[in-house]
Amino acid sequence: MDVLDVAARAAETGPVCDACLGRLVADRSFGLSNAERGSALRTALTLRDDEDYEPVETADCWVCEGRCTEFDAWAERAVDAVGDAEFETYNVGTRTPPLIEENEALLREDAGLDADAGEPFKSEFNREVGKRVGRLTDTEVSFDRPDVQFTIDLAEDAVDAKVNSTFVYGRYRKLDRDIPQTEWPCRECDGSGRQGADPCDHCGGSGYLYDDSVEEYTAPVVEDVMDGTEATFHGAGREDVDALMLGTGRPFVIEVEEPHRRRVDTDRLQSDINAFADGAVEVEGLRLATYDMVERVKEHDASKRYRAQVAFDADVDADALADAVDRLEGETIEQYTPNRVDHRRAGLTRERDVYEATAELDDSRHATVEIRGAGGLYIKELISGDQGRTEPSLAGLLDVDADVTALDVLAVEGESEPFEDEAFFRD
Ligand SMILES: [Zn+2]
Ligand SMILES: [Zn+2]
Repeated sequence: MDVLDVAARAAETGPVCDACLGRLVADRSFGLSNAERGSALRTALTLRDDEDYEPVETADCWVCEGRCTEFDAWAERAVDAVGDAEFETYNVGTRTPPLIEENEALLREDAGLDADAGEPFKSEFNREVGKRVGRLTDTEVSFDRPDVQFTIDLAEDAVDAKVNSTFVYGRYRKLDRDIPQTEWPCRECDGSGRQGADPCDHCGGSGYLYDDSVEEYTAPVVEDVMDGTEATFHGAGREDVDALMLGTGRPFVIEVEEPHRRRVDTDRLQSDINAFADGAVEVEGLRLATYDMVERVKEHDASKRYRAQVAFDADVDADALADAVDRLEGETIEQYTPNRVDHRRAGLTRERDVYEATAELDDSRHATVEIRGAGGLYIKELISGDQGRTEPSLAGLLDVDADVTALDVLAVEGESEPFEDEAFFRD
């Protein structure tokens, strides 16, 4: 059907504003707003039929009930709703009153169009309010996890601004032993700190088994600087509570909910955290990261480099030790789930590769062993043999008992590529 015939039939239904008229043919002529399309159609129709030109006040439109006059007002309300929270990207969603949806369907039927012809009211509203929000705040629309999601509910006369989380990536070193990575709630009181009316004996009433954690040394500082409501620590795996994390550190992401500030100076944040952690924990390489970085640090396969202090129950000579680590290097190790790991986990044998192994004898009963291996390799068991459950092992190859007395992690590096892929950063 000719667009002027569509316009003529639509105009006969009663007062239809320029935007609602233009939306019927929104798929025509890229580069015009719907209001411009509608105005042009009305003008052309008047000329064709040689009638007097009578504009329609948007407020009188029976289709949108005047809502198409409200783009500016809703944009201002949206900006008010987000308050002083900083954002760079946003998206606008609109809940259309059912009556307007019915009007839209009726107009299309009367104009002889398909029910889904042109563009729905809702998408025009989202776009027109969105453009104005962008102009008012100098920010950009994003459909992929924007910093702020605005929801306009026309029937309820309300606008909601949901401020999405922001993320900081970095690497941490843990320089004191006996610090867990994250808060460790007391199992006796489930973290409540109480047993009935009394303080919990097991944790001294704190609700936690350890006073400190890497999370406690880092996340509250980030939460404070970004002025959020909550902060969560996500690590790329975790070392044992009694193991140090040294060298290049372990990747982590701290997620801050409802931040008021996003563009923080990460160098300064790094100094603030390191001052707060006072030598127990150090962070480096802090950068602003995307939402996807959380999954990246949790799921990306990583190799680990360890340094173990090992004690033998019989004398070991340097040549035998060198020979044993040579045989471990490049070997695939079979490990039955160690008892210490998880009693509930079904026993299974896993295979993990040792990429590199070196050792130095400190005296005839003690050695320092460095192992670089695939993620998931159990190092204490690789050394001790775990009573035959790990094969081969250093103890087995030397035919002595061997125990790890101290274990440090020196590096956690992505297997296929580094964790630090630029696609996961925002700065
Ligand atoms: Zn209208
Ligand atoms: Zn407790």
